[in-house]
Amino acid sequence: MVYTVTLIPGDGIGPEVTAAARRVLEAAGVKFKWEIAEAGAGVMAQYGTPLPESVIASIKKNKIALKGPVTTPIGVGFRSVNVALRKSLDLYACLRPCKTYPGVLSRYQDVDIVVVRENTEDLYAGIEYEKGSPEAARLLQLVSETRGKVREDSGISLKIISEFGTRRIVKYAFDYARANGRHKVTAVHKANIMKFSDGLFLSVAREVAKGYPEIEFNDVIIDNMCMQLVRDPQQFDVLVLPNLYGDIISDLCAGLVGGLGVAPGANIGEGIAVFEPTHGSAPKYAGLNKVNPMATMLSGFLLLKHLKEKPAADRLEKAIAAVIAEGKFVTYDMKSGKSGGAGTSEVADAVIEKME
Ligand code: NAD
Repeated sequence: MVYTVTLIPGDGIGPEVTAAARRVLEAAGVKFKWEIAEAGAGVMAQYGTPLPESVIASIKKNKIALKGPVTTPIGVGFRSVNVALRKSLDLYACLRPCKTYPGVLSRYQDVDIVVVRENTEDLYAGIEYEKGSPEAARLLQLVSETRGKVREDSGISLKIISEFGTRRIVKYAFDYARANGRHKVTAVHKANIMKFSDGLFLSVAREVAKGYPEIEFNDVIIDNMCMQLVRDPQQFDVLVLPNLYGDIISDLCAGLVGGLGVAPGANIGEGIAVFEPTHGSAPKYAGLNKVNPMATMLSGFLLLKHLKEKPAADRLEKAIAAVIAEGKFVTYDMKSGKSGGAGTSEVADAVIEKME
């Protein structure tokens, strides 16, 4: 069987890390036909948008994509390709497994946490009103009438958390736990302060948990969660979080297991999945054959698991783990002192050699 997969190289370091991931996926024993779809600043001039409709159409058709990071310039009228992609394909679940492989540069060992982040709602969803705009004035008027005076020179970002959105992400987390032999799901929130948004998240999570009696459920307040993760990360298994906390905690967990260079991810919707590393486009390293391709390779490992190609998935993960354990062909971020290290393409060569 040949799988047709949309490949979005992205920009910055994206083309290098996706090229490396593509090579190791091809060597894992599964046949792929890659449908290249360009997105980002580089296609603005040609299409007038960083996310051409053809990219969305390709993913909708193939139902599966491997994506490199795409730069979101700050302060210019350029919408985030990543947020737009997640929204237009309703990729509501962001899955970020964070696992320490022996030999990785980390203070921790035996961490194996899966972060399940809600991807479409919350403060991160981009429902915002600029200071001084007529919409902000109307909203502030309503707030002043119902909740007391709010300063007129305020900008507003809305935190929207729905029962529907919460139910499906928590259900996703429990279904994932059940399918992957996981034992515990922890909901993370600040329900003590934000009673109507995080409070709703927590009460729906508790309700969903009742449908999975074999899986332990608990909840932890976000600030305590940060402290617990740094002190004793091994106590956690699957975490389920609203969008913004999920964003922050994913990076924290990436830090526990060796950094962004080894943190893979997947954005999942109904029957559709986009695999991408947690890290961004690190523009300063673009074209230098320097950065770590393992996060994208491990996203490829998740892609193989999603395709139910277990032997190939296991082969790839084992080869990556062996390269890490050996410590010879790893990039600078995996070396103590953060200097020296192999190039991006040499890491791919080493992983391929291990699979052979
Ligand atoms: P970043 O993840 O691109 O880089 C931060 C730092 O992490 C880098 O300077 C580098 O030191 C390190 N790093 C990242 N990836 C690495 C790798 N593979 N190997 C070794 N070291 C690595 O974060 P940033 O600088 O905040 O963001 C740069 C751009 O990427 C921004 O425009 C941001 O919006 C975008 N971004 C895109 C995505 C995405 O496409 N999904 C995700 C995050 C950020």
